[in-house]
Amino acid sequence: MLTVEKAICMITDAIPSVDREIVQLHQASGRVLQQRVKAERDQPPFDRVTMDGIAIKFDAFTKGITEFAIKGTQQAGDQVHRLCQANDCLEIMTGSVLPKGSDCVVPVERISIKNDHAILENGYLPERNQFIHPQGSDHEKGHVILRPGQVISPMDIAIIASCGLESVQVSKQPTIQLISTGNELVDPGKKIEAHQIRMSNGPALNAMLTRHGFFNTTHEHLVDDQDILEKRLEKILAENEVIVLSGGVSMGKADYVPEVLTKLGVKIVFHKISQQPGKPMWFGIGPAGQQVFALPGNPVSTIVCCRHYVIPALLHAAGRAKTQSEFAVLAEEVTCSSKLTCFMPVRISCSADGFINATPVPTNTSGDFTSLTGTDGYVELAKENGFFDAGAIVPIHRWTIS
Ligand code: AMP
Ligand code: MG
Repeated sequence: MLTVEKAICMITDAIPSVDREIVQLHQASGRVLQQRVKAERDQPPFDRVTMDGIAIKFDAFTKGITEFAIKGTQQAGDQVHRLCQANDCLEIMTGSVLPKGSDCVVPVERISIKNDHAILENGYLPERNQFIHPQGSDHEKGHVILRPGQVISPMDIAIIASCGLESVQVSKQPTIQLISTGNELVDPGKKIEAHQIRMSNGPALNAMLTRHGFFNTTHEHLVDDQDILEKRLEKILAENEVIVLSGGVSMGKADYVPEVLTKLGVKIVFHKISQQPGKPMWFGIGPAGQQVFALPGNPVSTIVCCRHYVIPALLHAAGRAKTQSEFAVLAEEVTCSSKLTCFMPVRISCSADGFINATPVPTNTSGDFTSLTGTDGYVELAKENGFFDAGAIVPIHRWTIS
């Protein structure tokens, strides 16, 4: 059976990159940047005053002058003023341009003002260039500050705005259709019978996708009927770039999904991965390049497969730069019951020496999704070993890729 690593490679090789689009700045947060962002000007664009106070010539102070005639005020947004005489000063405000001819800012807390004169506090020793943020000291004009592949953070929004851009090129959002299959499923808010199950996978998949920046997502429930599945899937394939199904991919009599997908021209890339939970996962590519992820319906399997395969695949297609792998120290021993790679949910904490400690939170079968609450992710326990000692260093995957 296919290994976890091989399954990831096969998905990555099969999926096409998404197109690009231009979005307004207020819509760009969380999107994958697809252009370089260069500094419009030096940053700061002028010698910037960092304190409210007065601007003086430092040499005046070295010559023993401690009282200065106030010749005007320079505020943020004012054109640059000039300081001419050694025994003069200008009142200045944080964010203003440093007046020409001055090279020292004395904070307002260190002066007293009398008869339009500023007098330095007794014994106060200013330094040349103090409280001045020099022009270009953060970066120079033309410097590349942001590169393609970055997920745009609120800080990046500030940078893009500071570079004078009102719009920016990002990866296009794929249209994603989520489908939950199963006769037993009933939406929250609707009357439910004893033999039925609440629909929870659809909302969970939707939440995981939106949390990773994929908002162009709709959800539909389909019953286990081959004809209905075929009819709806044909239309859904025609209208979407990504289809994520849950349920109906195992060996049960009502597990029609692989057969129907094949009939509709979706080429199978693989069926089944040597892992637990999530072994029956199916993946294929539709006639127009649609990515079709058919996840097993057991809720823990659905969530783990979405996090381990669907989200990374979508981020990869969007051109997102790869994040670094993380490793954790197992806080308790774990015995895996099968020879498959085991994805074990964990809570993580950080030890004083900087290691991530992972405490296993085993679920009561892959149907027990309530145990996942409060977990931070899962560790990947390689399939060759059945037993993992406390202290073993293992790969960890957080539920949210940041
Ligand atoms: P299946 O993969 O279709 O055989 O489903 C396996 C188990 O997962 C069954 O117990 C289903 O009731 C449950 N299940 C399937 N889909 C969902 C869903 N959307 N929400 C909650 N449970 C589900
Ligand atoms: Mg089912």
